[in-house]
Amino acid sequence: MSLQECLDADAEAGAPIIAIAGGEPLLHKEMPQIVEGLVERKKYVYLCTNALLLEKKLKDYKPSPFFSWDVHLDGDQQMHDSSVCQDGVYERAVAAIRLAKSKGFRISINCTFFDGVDPKKAADFFDSVMEMGVDGVMTAPGYAYERAPDQEHFLNRQKTKTLFRDIFRYGKGKKWRFTQSPLFLNFLAGNENYKCTPWGKPLRTVFGWQRPCYLLGEGYAKTFKELMEDTAWDDYGTGAYEKCADCMVHSGYEATAVMDAVKRPWHFIKVALTGPETEKPMAPEISLAHQRPAEYGYDAQVSEQMERLETKGKPSRGPRVRVNGKDVESQKSSAAE
Ligand code: SF4
Repeated sequence: MSLQECLDADAEAGAPIIAIAGGEPLLHKEMPQIVEGLVERKKYVYLCTNALLLEKKLKDYKPSPFFSWDVHLDGDQQMHDSSVCQDGVYERAVAAIRLAKSKGFRISINCTFFDGVDPKKAADFFDSVMEMGVDGVMTAPGYAYERAPDQEHFLNRQKTKTLFRDIFRYGKGKKWRFTQSPLFLNFLAGNENYKCTPWGKPLRTVFGWQRPCYLLGEGYAKTFKELMEDTAWDDYGTGAYEKCADCMVHSGYEATAVMDAVKRPWHFIKVALTGPETEKPMAPEISLAHQRPAEYGYDAQVSEQMERLETKGKPSRGPRVRVNGKDVESQKSSAAE
């Protein structure tokens, strides 16, 4: 996506907070201008990165209360290097975090936990990033959406809730800073019976506005209006669709938590003050009895969109890469993720 397409997408959606996801956004030549343009509009920008290029690119960005690096770290050195299948990545990311902090940047950590994570190690990791001075942590359960290559190490909802309860138990009395709402964390710990709000975090990719959410690509709308008005939102979410059965990801549930905070401010304040509940019985799980079966159309969607872009004569922006087993032209967008 060009600078202009990014700014137009912002103008269309009017969202107050924008997360620029990857791939690796620092490979995009116009990224400093994209960030600057959004910050000028007083949008809160979270720029996701694996931090491998961060030290080199830092000079192209300016610290601002509206701008935060969002560094991918899935735990301590052993956990993260094994998650990304490469030794030394954790150390480079931590060195870049320290440098960015010393230059006055805001830093958030983007942390996904998978099946088999030791809750004590996860809690120690949160302690360590707090000591590094990061401004907040955004955490999520690894969830087996259809395009993820490794389907074995993802969490189901029961395991997710147990894992986060165990982690939060170690965090009692500590001042871990999260960039997520207290009620979403309470949901991760099994205390809220939330339904997904997929429209709460709309996703724009090089193909258009993705239906229904960041995780599932079941079609693309040309405009934000079309996305909002013509998507069958009720067809998605845990209990409604088979692919959503194990999902507890912020992509769909953070917006539900935020709306609940407005509806029940006293509940929000209590959870914000005391932290997520870790001992009482969990909220009842959503029944999957009436979910509609999964439909598998992502490969066809990608082929159709690539054909459309090629017909439009879009310039090639990179080498050919493998997406879902197909050779396609690489693009600077989150669609490849
Ligand atoms: S539950 Fe919501 S956020 Fe999760 S995959 Fe389904 S639509 Fe997307």
